[in-house]
Parts: sequence; C-alpha cells; structure tokens
Amino acid sequence: MFCRNCGNELNPGAEVCLKCGVPKTKGHNFCPICGAETHPEAVLCVKCGASLVQPTVNADPTAKSKLVAGLLGIFLGYLGVHNFYLGYNKKAIAQLVITLCTCGAGSLISGVWGLIEGIMILCGNIATDADGKALTE
Ligand SMILES: [Zn+2]
Ligand SMILES: [Zn+2]
Repeated sequence: MFCRNCGNELNPGAEVCLKCGVPKTKGHNFCPICGAETHPEAVLCVKCGASLVQPTVNADPTAKSKLVAGLLGIFLGYLGVHNFYLGYNKKAIAQLVITLCTCGAGSLISGVWGLIEGIMILCGNIATDADGKALTE
C-alpha cells in the first residue's frame, strides 16, 4: 500500500500517510498498489493495472442514511425523530410539540407531516441533512 499523494510506502492498516498527512485513499499522484507515478486523471495504473478510482458510496462515514431517515419519518414522524436524525432540530421540535402539547391528538397532524416527509426522503425529494450533506442510500 502506497500513499496516493506522495508515493511513500504505508504501514499495513495505516489510515493516514505519516509523510504527508493525507488520508490513504486521497491524492492522485501515485498508484496505491505498486507506488508508480500515475496521471492525476488516470482511472487505471498503467504499470500494474490496479483501479485508481475509489468507490464513492458511503465515502463519508458521517453521512446519514436515506432509508433510516425515511423509515423514521414514516413510523416515528409524529415525534420528529427523522428530523432530529437529520439535524433539522426546529422542525423536529415543532412535530414533537404538536404531538405532546395536545396529549397525542395532534399526532394526526405531525404524524401525517412526518409520513409525507418520510416518503419525500425515500423518493429523494429531501436529499440532504441539515448541514447540506447528501444522504446515502
Ligand atoms: Zn503521503
Ligand atoms: Zn500500480
């Protein structure tokens, strides 16, 4: 395993290059398998044939799951759980307040609201969390 940024050989299991401080999958200058120099736009190492493109799915470990958020909205939307999950705290508190302050009677309103939002999340109409980060599948 070689650093893609500076070509330094990495210790097995290392997450960050100790020479340049770049995370192991970042950088475009060297092949991670054989350490040969690669063109920044190359998708394959011309020396060893290794793939140089990193899968982008779940690249961000902090990205929220669309499925989880959608299901939370559909089943627990009246408590605003899906909005708490996505960081939309004001909306979440509004849904929670509607439910609690009416001793549950308002859960019809907040429940339908949450249900619609849950479906919108699953359909991709709400595709980002409160920080503007894209949701994963
Ligand atoms: Zn490096
Ligand atoms: Zn290579």
